[in-house]
Amino acid sequence: MAATPEPPASATPRRKAGRHRGEGQWARGHRTPLNGNEQFKKEDDGLNVRTRIETVYSKQGFDSIDPNDLRGRMRWWGLYTQRKPGIDGGKTAVLAPEELDDEFFMLRVRIDGGRLTTEQLRVIGEISQEFARGTADITDRQNVQYHWIRIEDVPEIWRRLEAVGLSTTEACGDTPRVVLGSPVAGIAEDEIVDGTPAIDEIQRRIIGNKEFSNLPRKFKSAVSGSPLLDVAHEINDIAFVGVDHPEHGPGFDLWVGGGLSTNPKIGVRLGAWVQLDEVPDVFEGVISVFRDYGYRRLRNRARLKFLVADWGAKKFREVLETEYLKRELVDGPAPEQPGRQWRDHVGVHRQKDGRYYVGFAPRVGRVDGTTLSKIAALAEEHGSGRVRTTAEQKMIVLDIAEDQVDSLVAALEELDLRVKASPFRRGTMACTGIEFCKLAIVDTKNRGQSLIDELERRLPDFDQPLTININGCPNACARIQVADIGLKGQLVTDSEGNQVEGFQVHLGGALGLEAGFGRKVRGLKVTSAELPDYVERVVKRFEGEREDGERFAT
Ligand code: SF4
Repeated sequence: MAATPEPPASATPRRKAGRHRGEGQWARGHRTPLNGNEQFKKEDDGLNVRTRIETVYSKQGFDSIDPNDLRGRMRWWGLYTQRKPGIDGGKTAVLAPEELDDEFFMLRVRIDGGRLTTEQLRVIGEISQEFARGTADITDRQNVQYHWIRIEDVPEIWRRLEAVGLSTTEACGDTPRVVLGSPVAGIAEDEIVDGTPAIDEIQRRIIGNKEFSNLPRKFKSAVSGSPLLDVAHEINDIAFVGVDHPEHGPGFDLWVGGGLSTNPKIGVRLGAWVQLDEVPDVFEGVISVFRDYGYRRLRNRARLKFLVADWGAKKFREVLETEYLKRELVDGPAPEQPGRQWRDHVGVHRQKDGRYYVGFAPRVGRVDGTTLSKIAALAEEHGSGRVRTTAEQKMIVLDIAEDQVDSLVAALEELDLRVKASPFRRGTMACTGIEFCKLAIVDTKNRGQSLIDELERRLPDFDQPLTININGCPNACARIQVADIGLKGQLVTDSEGNQVEGFQVHLGGALGLEAGFGRKVRGLKVTSAELPDYVERVVKRFEGEREDGERFAT
């Protein structure tokens, strides 16, 4: 899964009047668990499952796993059961969870800030080849996801990851997830401020800390000092966005309450400026507000965005300042419109130290262990010891001397990792889909890869930024609501009346200063087989009618 999914909207009971009384907010004294998830979290902290995995489950095998650990607490260590092969999308909603569960796991490795050394990348590649049948997808949250993991192998995988400073701690579950960071932090010529020290301190202080391991729901975060707004800050629970304060200088603009899925909301600015060394305190304050005041009755009303929507920015900031920070924050400016439309860092770009970084695009984040090991070797051959993952399922090699750039570009292209990528290659993302995800209705990764190939063949001259995001179900792991063309997987009726895999189309979503959700085109559904024809028609119409400088979303 590209992100831990939420239950379908149809599972949402109606909200009742006087909801604050019964939303399960700890700060209002509501400690009685109001649903099964709250119950198992109260019974035992998710982080404690690690000992049972190491001492019991990995030795006695899959059948020994307690169901509350299997479908609950194991997420606290990045483990999620994967979908049994061969079950079609029509059965997703009707089968019980245990009928969909395979004996193998998805395992998510958190890569905070998207930062990796080549040594770490090589270890990730080796684990993939040895324990994950070669799988290793780059997600849109800068993580790596394995599939086909056996419970017996998990302790050894942890040992190898942790030996090089990586972990799967709180990679899933109701926890502080990976902290997104600008993939060009510390090296970009146009950087406003380098958020890396703040990400390191948040990791040290918050991740794996039992003060913050029982949140109402997942807590997504981002820190970027890049003027390109390169971490999708608008759709995180908390985000720090680089800005230059007219009096205080470089720092961050604070956003809270963004999130997609079935009730999408763009985050709101609190109007506060935060300097670099205060970011961890403010992060701790906001996550504490969420822990204490977040809604714990209904899983699909538990994300921070619902509290922020009910309170508004003014009250949220007031509670943060008075109850948690014990001081007032400085008012500050909003971020500016980025100068570049692509934020994926694909291509060759100069660093502030005169060397270059080289960004490249696999198809829809799909790589494999062998390829990752080759990328690590290529980076080192060309003088680099650092790589990064991006929030667009792309990768970057850093610190390349000018005379090494051409040969690195050629070698990456040889591996089908495009530096000179088409807009379709750059702009298409896909979630995990039916191959491994238990909530999926349709295939996404294979569909996305073949769509890219088809569009490159049919529209070789198209050169505008365009995003095509493909989800396998109504959840939003691949951010369909903020894509130019968002495709939501569902069963549709073909011309002969058969129920087949297809998509509901959303058009015109965007991130950035024009952030907004795509319009669901009423009645517009395409079968998977018709998808290339449909997208080709939309792109051609856009090209034909576009005025100078006009973007797809406008
Ligand atoms: Fe997320 Fe895709 Fe799975 Fe749906 S099918 S839950 S969007 S990974």
